[in-house]
Amino acid sequence: MKQNDGKRVAIIGGGVIGCLTALSLHRLGAAPVILEKGSAGREASWAGAGILCPIHPWLYPDSFTRLIEDSLALYPELSAMLLEMTGISVQWRTTGLLIPFFEDDRIHHHDDALAWSARFGWRVEELDAAQTCAHEPTISAQVSGSLLWPDVGQVRNPRLLAAARQALKICRVPVREQSEVIGLDAHNNAYTVRLADGGSIEADDVLLAAGSWSGELSRLMGLQLPVEPVKGQIVLLKDEPGRVNHIIKHDDAYMVPRVDGHILVGASMERVGFQTGTTDAVVDQLLAATYRITPGLKRAQIVQQWMGFRPGSPDGMPYLGPVDGRPGLWVASGHYRNGVALAPGTADLMSRWIMGETPPSDLSDFRVNRPVVEKDKVGFPAV
Ligand SMILES: Cc1cc2nc3c(=O)[nH]c(=O)nc-3n(C[C@H](O)[C@H](O)[C@H](O)COP(=O)(O)OP(=O)(O)OC[C@H]3O[C@@H](n4cnc5c(N)ncnc54)[C@H](O)[C@@H]3O)c2cc1C
Repeated sequence: MKQNDGKRVAIIGGGVIGCLTALSLHRLGAAPVILEKGSAGREASWAGAGILCPIHPWLYPDSFTRLIEDSLALYPELSAMLLEMTGISVQWRTTGLLIPFFEDDRIHHHDDALAWSARFGWRVEELDAAQTCAHEPTISAQVSGSLLWPDVGQVRNPRLLAAARQALKICRVPVREQSEVIGLDAHNNAYTVRLADGGSIEADDVLLAAGSWSGELSRLMGLQLPVEPVKGQIVLLKDEPGRVNHIIKHDDAYMVPRVDGHILVGASMERVGFQTGTTDAVVDQLLAATYRITPGLKRAQIVQQWMGFRPGSPDGMPYLGPVDGRPGLWVASGHYRNGVALAPGTADLMSRWIMGETPPSDLSDFRVNRPVVEKDKVGFPAV
């Protein structure tokens, strides 16, 4: 028996980060329990588009690309393992990512994107207007060219969450839903996690993985994690399968083709706190952008719209690691626009770290107490 076998780890939050970390901890011999205030896998992790590449990776430090690459490398094994265990396909597949360019684009990513691709060895093709239209027949004739990354993948995240939930059930990892955490008391090298219903859980270690709620929850624990919700709305279209071939990404909207002809159009970036619900104005804006970029989709049926809260960190990067001065308290949150891409790597890293392994690389860019970067110095296009 290893020293940490049976370690009781309370994971706060049953999103993709909490669920995959729990699975990984279980495989390493720990005894995790997920505490979820609502239903597991129904917040950002369900709502997201499942693009397995940062929206504009060249805007981040190189350490972030490495974190993404380490995580993406785990997707083949993870999706095969989940399929074998649960029979659920997460529809992990390579559809490629195409960024089209138009004369009146506000931001031109061309040179930065090529430099980043060369630096990290990501295959990229430069297409002229005719080649772009041949790849994507719904795209506007106004397009002047595009960049295509043929190896970029996607996953259908509701299925990923369903498979992870099922796998947790098979492994008998407790997922306690309707169990809102309201505080934490430390005592004798362990924690009492307090719940809103008056109950509590004893744990050796605690992992804060509460997505957008991690900021306010951290304050209840005496921490100052600057994680805030950034609302994103998505519109679901339906056309014949194969009308859109790649993920198409423009600063005004992206389109993600699913295998059955559904096309996700996303996503707004709204700092409106925890205001739920979709709005006509944003849906109209997303549709207008879609019809401008890909007029061929005007005939597609509008099926549904939804929203989710991205766990926004000021610099767009996650907080990963231990909390200084609080032995046994860990954070894996603030994954912002990239939590689905980063989830397998986060789960692997955090579970090993919690079980006593030393991380294989320098993770100081993601440390919990790093200085807060001013928002206006971060170069994200405000889509
Ligand atoms: C519209 C949209 C599009 C996106 N597109 C992509 C994409 O294409 N690719 C990509 O990689 N990422 C994408 N993302 C981002 C990605 O979805 C998130 O980064 C990721 O899901 C975060 O996972 P999480 O587990 O941290 O958070 P969540 O999924 O939000 O899970 C956190 C959980 O914690 C629970 N919780 C909160 N407070 C408490 C408490 N006090 N007690 C107990 N439980 C609590 C919540 O109920 C929730 O279930 C997108 C997000 C949105 C909204």
